[in-house]
Amino acid sequence: MPVITAPQDFNTDDLYVDLKPVFERALYLKCEGFNFAGSIKLKAAAEMVAAAERSGALQPGSVLVESSSGNLGVALAMIAASKGYGFLCVTDSRCNLSTRRLMEALGSQVHIISEPDATGGFLGARIGYVQALCAADDRYVWLNQYRNPNNWRAHHRRTAPAIARAFPKLDVLFVGAGTTGTLMGCARWFREWHRPVRVVAVDSVGSVTFGGPPGRRMIPGLGTSVRPALLEESYVDEVVLVEEADTIRACHRLARRGFLFGGSTGTVVSGAMSWLAEHGHERLTSVAIAPDLGERYLDTVYQSNWLHDLYGEDVLGAEQLTTG
Ligand code: PMP
Repeated sequence: MPVITAPQDFNTDDLYVDLKPVFERALYLKCEGFNFAGSIKLKAAAEMVAAAERSGALQPGSVLVESSSGNLGVALAMIAASKGYGFLCVTDSRCNLSTRRLMEALGSQVHIISEPDATGGFLGARIGYVQALCAADDRYVWLNQYRNPNNWRAHHRRTAPAIARAFPKLDVLFVGAGTTGTLMGCARWFREWHRPVRVVAVDSVGSVTFGGPPGRRMIPGLGTSVRPALLEESYVDEVVLVEEADTIRACHRLARRGFLFGGSTGTVVSGAMSWLAEHGHERLTSVAIAPDLGERYLDTVYQSNWLHDLYGEDVLGAEQLTTG
């Protein structure tokens, strides 16, 4: 019986869904959405906070500050509350209300940037705001998930070894790329341990991470408009890009089988299915990482008006929202 004293101590590392009955291809989905903060980001947040404590950067009375519009913010809010630090999340007007409420419920402050920066986006404005706070008051500690190596170390220390333990004969691992923390931690670990595991990065069309042209992206979590500083492409064996309409269809197909996952899981699963269709799946053992669950996407990925406005009336094809 697991009994814990802090949210980050609850380990969900050994939970997988077999997708064979849903997609007729051999793929196991590693579910990270049952962490207390609802996503894989709890691990990165815990690792970054622990390292900042060890280095002395984080001390009693410190206030964590981070630019986040979602899962990392919720994870930091939870860890800050459990360890007695303050947390200020800098986000923008696109951050959804329930995510904001979640952070506030955990005792965090949320500052919303409503003026876009020179690029028309908010990321630069958000980072500028964080930097100004830190320059004005040394109680503020910025972990900076985009550059902090402890982001990928969390997955090097925990996620990859857990997968290798569960699947000693693993052939292919599919990982979505946002900050690339999960991807780099896992890819490095498998490379260092000389395991013949192919690490396939999955990203959205319109993300610049792997050198593609920027384009509209509406599914949060994956992809970026600024190349992630943590990415070292030499560790990545292959890259698959997925159209958002395919992401949506994969999410709905899973939902129709009772598995409500987040948007980025749809991307990773869709990318994995195309890769497996091309390479033959029967003789391969494959795992994909599902970063979170679907409850945070009820007003977007699982809402018909949102879907139809963005992707057209027949985006779902056979995966309709309700049965007739
Ligand atoms: N999916 C979701 C839902 C996320 O919140 C994140 C984190 N931004 C990712 C995927 C990507 O993870 P990483 O930052 O480790 O690349």
